[in-house]
Amino acid sequence: MRFNFKNISLQCFSCNGPLSSNAINYRLGLVARYGEQFVNGLESDKEPRQFTLEEVILIGKYYKDLCRRMMADDSRELESYQ
Ligand SMILES: [Zn+2]
Repeated sequence: MRFNFKNISLQCFSCNGPLSSNAINYRLGLVARYGEQFVNGLESDKEPRQFTLEEVILIGKYYKDLCRRMMADDSRELESYQ
Protein backbone atom coordinates (compact mmCIF):
# COMPACT_ATOMS: atom_id res chain seq x y z
CA MET A 1 0.00 0.00 0.00
CA ARG A 2 3.03 2.24 0.21
CA PHE A 3 4.48 4.14 -2.74
CA ASN A 4 1.14 4.99 -4.24
CA PHE A 5 0.55 8.67 -4.81
CA LYS A 6 -3.06 8.44 -3.65
CA ASN A 7 -2.02 6.81 -0.40
CA ILE A 8 -0.22 9.91 0.81
CA SER A 9 -2.28 11.99 3.18
CA LEU A 10 -1.73 14.33 6.05
CA GLN A 11 -2.72 13.22 9.51
CA CYS A 12 -3.10 15.19 12.69
CA PHE A 13 -0.76 14.55 15.61
CA SER A 14 -3.31 12.43 17.44
CA CYS A 15 -3.99 10.10 14.48
CA ASN A 16 -0.34 9.81 13.52
CA GLY A 17 0.89 9.38 17.10
CA PRO A 18 -1.26 8.01 19.92
CA LEU A 19 -3.75 6.36 17.55
CA SER A 20 -0.95 4.64 15.58
CA SER A 21 -2.17 5.91 12.19
CA ASN A 22 -5.87 5.52 13.01
CA ALA A 23 -5.95 2.90 10.25
CA ILE A 24 -9.69 2.19 10.26
CA ASN A 25 -10.65 5.84 9.84
CA TYR A 26 -7.79 6.39 7.40
CA ARG A 27 -9.20 3.60 5.23
CA LEU A 28 -12.70 5.07 5.49
CA GLY A 29 -11.27 8.37 4.28
CA LEU A 30 -9.56 6.70 1.32
CA VAL A 31 -12.80 4.96 0.37
CA ALA A 32 -14.72 8.24 0.59
CA ARG A 33 -12.17 9.94 -1.63
CA TYR A 34 -11.31 7.26 -4.21
CA GLY A 35 -13.89 4.49 -3.81
CA GLU A 36 -13.91 0.97 -2.39
CA GLN A 37 -12.60 -0.64 -5.57
CA PHE A 38 -9.52 1.56 -5.61
CA VAL A 39 -8.75 0.86 -1.93
CA ASN A 40 -9.21 -2.87 -2.45
CA GLY A 41 -6.71 -2.63 -5.30
CA LEU A 42 -4.22 -0.84 -3.07
CA GLU A 43 -4.60 -3.42 -0.33
CA SER A 44 -4.23 -6.39 -2.65
CA ASP A 45 -1.03 -5.05 -4.24
CA LYS A 46 1.63 -7.09 -2.43
CA GLU A 47 4.32 -6.74 -5.08
CA PRO A 48 7.62 -5.87 -3.40
CA ARG A 49 9.29 -2.70 -4.64
CA GLN A 50 13.03 -2.70 -5.15
CA PHE A 51 14.48 0.78 -5.50
CA THR A 52 18.07 1.78 -5.94
CA LEU A 53 19.52 4.45 -3.69
CA GLU A 54 19.42 6.89 -6.62
CA GLU A 55 15.72 6.14 -7.18
CA VAL A 56 14.92 6.67 -3.49
CA ILE A 57 16.72 10.02 -3.59
CA LEU A 58 14.77 11.03 -6.72
CA ILE A 59 11.46 9.96 -5.14
CA GLY A 60 12.30 12.03 -2.05
CA LYS A 61 13.14 15.07 -4.17
CA TYR A 62 9.94 14.65 -6.18
CA TYR A 63 7.73 14.63 -3.08
CA LYS A 64 9.65 17.42 -1.41
CA ASP A 65 9.08 19.56 -4.50
CA LEU A 66 5.43 18.51 -4.64
CA CYS A 67 4.97 19.58 -1.01
CA ARG A 68 6.51 22.98 -1.75
CA ARG A 69 4.21 23.50 -4.73
CA MET A 70 1.15 22.43 -2.78
CA MET A 71 2.01 24.67 0.15
CA ALA A 72 2.23 27.61 -2.26
CA ASP A 73 -1.15 26.77 -3.79
CA ASP A 74 -4.35 27.58 -1.94
CA SER A 75 -6.39 24.71 -3.41
CA ARG A 76 -3.97 21.92 -2.40
CA GLU A 77 -5.97 19.43 -4.43
CA LEU A 78 -3.64 16.47 -4.84
CA GLU A 79 -5.17 15.32 -8.11
CA SER A 80 -4.20 18.54 -9.85
CA TYR A 81 -0.51 17.78 -9.27
CA GLN A 82 -0.27 14.38 -10.91
ZN1 LIG B 1 -6.59 12.97 13.07
